[in-house]
Amino acid sequence: MGKVWLVGAGPGDPGLFTQRGKGILSRADVILYDRLVNPGILMWARGGVKFIDAGKTPNGKKMEQSEIHRLLVKHARYGAKVVRLKGGDPFVFGRGGEEAGILAKARIPFEVVPGVTAGIAGPGYAGIPVTQRGVSTEIDFCIGSRAEGSVSGKTWVGYMSVDGLKDFLSKATEKGFTPKTPAALVASGTCCDQRVLVATVGTLARAARKARMRAPAVVVVGAVVALREKLAWWEGRPLAGKRIILTASESLSRGWREKLEDQGAEVWEIPMTRTEALTPKKGWKEKIGNADWLVFTSAAGVRAFPGVVWDWRKIAHCQIAAVGKSTAEVLRSIGLQPDWIGGGPGSRELVKGWPRWAKGKVLHLTGDAGSGEMVELFRRKGFSADRLVIYRNSGAGAVPHPVRKALSNSGGDWVVFASGTAAERFRKAVPNWSREPKVVVIGPATARAARQAGWRVRAIAHEPSAESVLDAMLHRS
Ligand code: SAH
Repeated sequence: MGKVWLVGAGPGDPGLFTQRGKGILSRADVILYDRLVNPGILMWARGGVKFIDAGKTPNGKKMEQSEIHRLLVKHARYGAKVVRLKGGDPFVFGRGGEEAGILAKARIPFEVVPGVTAGIAGPGYAGIPVTQRGVSTEIDFCIGSRAEGSVSGKTWVGYMSVDGLKDFLSKATEKGFTPKTPAALVASGTCCDQRVLVATVGTLARAARKARMRAPAVVVVGAVVALREKLAWWEGRPLAGKRIILTASESLSRGWREKLEDQGAEVWEIPMTRTEALTPKKGWKEKIGNADWLVFTSAAGVRAFPGVVWDWRKIAHCQIAAVGKSTAEVLRSIGLQPDWIGGGPGSRELVKGWPRWAKGKVLHLTGDAGSGEMVELFRRKGFSADRLVIYRNSGAGAVPHPVRKALSNSGGDWVVFASGTAAERFRKAVPNWSREPKVVVIGPATARAARQAGWRVRAIAHEPSAESVLDAMLHRS
């Protein structure tokens, strides 16, 4: 089963498209976009994606809403990642609610990615604040005259209303809502501690007190509130409401954020190690020319490699080995097919498991922090082995003061360590916690180092991949 994202493209300026929207767009298989979407945004889609102009059919007419529904369901059922891209915000006069309803009914998973709505951004770019202290305390977003369908109701949204909730709701009855009209309080909306309380105009104030709802929150009054019963999507995901801190270098954890976010997590990337490709020392050409086997033991090594050898013909005589499955996957992503894949996780296991049929000279492509242990182990086994340093491990930047403070005060649910160094550095970077996050590490060696740095390890992932980390967390949370 695929999935559909109802994504707001913003009002026009591509810079107002959200980061989340951009990330999802870049992974989509199918994109149904509206007339009002700035086509410049579509450049962020990956190659080979199927574009469907939902603003027009081939005969130049506007695509029927029912046809849009049919296409969304059809592609999702084929297993595609489908993005429904709409101008502004998908739930503001964009029929996003109808489309979500169809998906909910068809039991197709979906997410909503809000966008900057034209009713606020347009005036903002025109130098018109839509509220102003002492001038205006209320904005109405309305449908103009040419909208199809009858206008049968309205929605009232209140800001800054936790303390004055009772007053706000009694004013709602003056506006024409009845005490039975559905009303909801959304606290910390879109944050990992989002809470939603649904009641009616008559009962919300009491219910909110009882549930100890806190600011910041917005109140929503109107019949639309009842749609939540069918359209709620945020809570259902396995990691909804969890904050996860990733400390691995960007080159290792590329793509992890998205995988975790798709499960509902809020992800903070705070890399404790960084890698940068190096220009290798003189003699690298000979080393590669002499090698029969190129051995990769890290994603960083693989990613730095094309910066050294960009002409694949130069390695045509070599066979390629990867320490484990995830390094193999990164190799494939740069177009190299491993001839042998070890069982991971480290040099010892690799040399121990080295197959009998793999003969000839071995060259380890590695970083400057590596100990040369693998070369040593290979030599002891009677192989001719050498190494080529192609990337540098550098210390990561310090954690900015406000981030450190936020972590100390509000903590996180999980922190992921992919190396002992990261566990040590992160302990030093954020020494005090009011609520220490649960620790998930990659492999037993990192677990030992993390414990030494004073962390209590809750879960061990079997390999350095987002799937493995996810699996470890889900079975321990
Ligand atoms: N979902 C959209 C609104 C869709 S209705 C949103 O949240 O913004 C389409 C109407 O939005 C247009 O008729 C126009 O009134 C308004 N609109 C959309 N983009 C706009 C823009 N760039 N400038 C001004 N108005 C815009």
